[in-house]
Amino acid sequence: MDVFARLESEVRGYCRGWPTVFTTARGSRLTDENGRTFLDFFAGAGTLNYGHNDPALKQRLLDYLAADNIVHSLDMHTAAKRRFLERFDELVLKPRGLDYKVQFPGPAGNHSVEAALKLARKYTGRETVVSFTNAFHGMTLGALAVTGNSMKRTGAGVPLGHGVAMPYDNYLDGRTPDFLLFETMLDDSGSGLDKPAAVIVETVQGEGGINVASPEWLRGLADLCRRHGILLIVDDVQMGCGRTGPFFSFEEAGITPDIVCLSKSLSGYGLPFAVTLMRRDLDVWEPGEHNGTFRGFNPAFVTAVGALEDHWTGEGLEKQTLKKGQQIKQALDEIALEHAGAVADVRGRGLVWGMETRDPETAARICAEAFRRGLLMETSGPNDEVVKMLPPLTTTSEELTEGLELLGESVAAVRTAVPA
Ligand code: PLP
Repeated sequence: MDVFARLESEVRGYCRGWPTVFTTARGSRLTDENGRTFLDFFAGAGTLNYGHNDPALKQRLLDYLAADNIVHSLDMHTAAKRRFLERFDELVLKPRGLDYKVQFPGPAGNHSVEAALKLARKYTGRETVVSFTNAFHGMTLGALAVTGNSMKRTGAGVPLGHGVAMPYDNYLDGRTPDFLLFETMLDDSGSGLDKPAAVIVETVQGEGGINVASPEWLRGLADLCRRHGILLIVDDVQMGCGRTGPFFSFEEAGITPDIVCLSKSLSGYGLPFAVTLMRRDLDVWEPGEHNGTFRGFNPAFVTAVGALEDHWTGEGLEKQTLKKGQQIKQALDEIALEHAGAVADVRGRGLVWGMETRDPETAARICAEAFRRGLLMETSGPNDEVVKMLPPLTTTSEELTEGLELLGESVAAVRTAVPA
């Protein structure tokens, strides 16, 4: 038995769908120890928006380490942190007219979410947070309480409190006018819904099955929050840093959240890094009230600055992302047309796309066939029924064509094995 099966906990997941041992990676390709290369259509679940081992970012990191610069510093001031704050302000916040303060909550997405939830509760003095059907916000208890997936919720082992789920956009197939239920309950003193501290939302639900909220729905939500004095938290952990086109996924809707969660691709290099952004007047933390050892990892500051300077000084990346997204959509639409018996829906924005299959087994088998052909893809959705595509934003159009052809072959192989 290999060391993974013998020693690594049964909780391991992705390695089961991709049963090989990876050694090196560059751009959109990984290589395993047998010398086989794989095209990466998953990008660390949205962590590698600029690809693996980007040479320019790697050089910045190597230079930083070689000069004995600070690596660990708790939340002390460092030159690397100062540079990050300055460049994040100049390249991300100011051009978008955003006046946020920046909290370093710990390195993972769930750390950003926990900080957001705590802050919203502290600021408002209220307990309830409204989330949405099929939401995913992380695996710590606070984040799980606003996550939809029942299997993951059960894993908490304790009651998950102070969260209320409302229907996400299109959850009811358009049968209920948007926010009618939510607003009626807010206005009704007999509804049983305590006035929430905050609403937490993903503009595109990544883990929940690539469910795309319309700009109108997001604007309606922001308006409802404003009218009722409820804070709006956008969890941009997976869809931020350009995944849907613009740096923040909420830009298209023209809304300004009160709090924003960012992580995954923020370091640009796959190094753990997260921030929680908050409206300036919401910063009611006492010093050290929300603490942690790994808040602000200096090597991640360095690569994050590199990623911002290399990719976010103009609109080039955003435009390319939207263009490549259309290439994916077109290919997926063709596959869906050809295999209508297997594919139920195609949806996405920017460079995040989902192909919903008619049953969960089909999605898993398509991903297995893709792996056999050298393409890494994962499933998502409440029953893992959606084949999910998140290639690095830097994937070339030729690589996209190559991957989409492999995907088409994989769907055909599954269909041939079991005729619908
Ligand atoms: N929020 C969203 C929207 C996510 O997609 C994820 C992870 O996939 C998280 C939060 C949690 O991030 P992490 O796994 O880094 O804790």
